[in-house]
Amino acid sequence: MSRLSLTRTKIYRTVARQLHGVVPCWICGEPVAPADATLEHITPLSDGGSSHLENLAISHGTCNHRRHAKAAGAAGD
Ligand SMILES: [Zn+2]
Repeated sequence: MSRLSLTRTKIYRTVARQLHGVVPCWICGEPVAPADATLEHITPLSDGGSSHLENLAISHGTCNHRRHAKAAGAAGD
């Protein structure tokens, strides 16, 4: 899991550099603090998404959790 954590840090820093220190949450658009950053698969692995950088984005831990909880509870929606 440390490898994913390294990827998360790398993406966070890359976005922060591009956007002058602000990393927006991929889900809600609000700035994400480093301690609250999680990696989000833009296309879920279950839908054939990859773990390559182009399919990964930073989101809040809470947003990430909420999105997955909603997806699990709303199957077929
Ligand atoms: Zn968010």
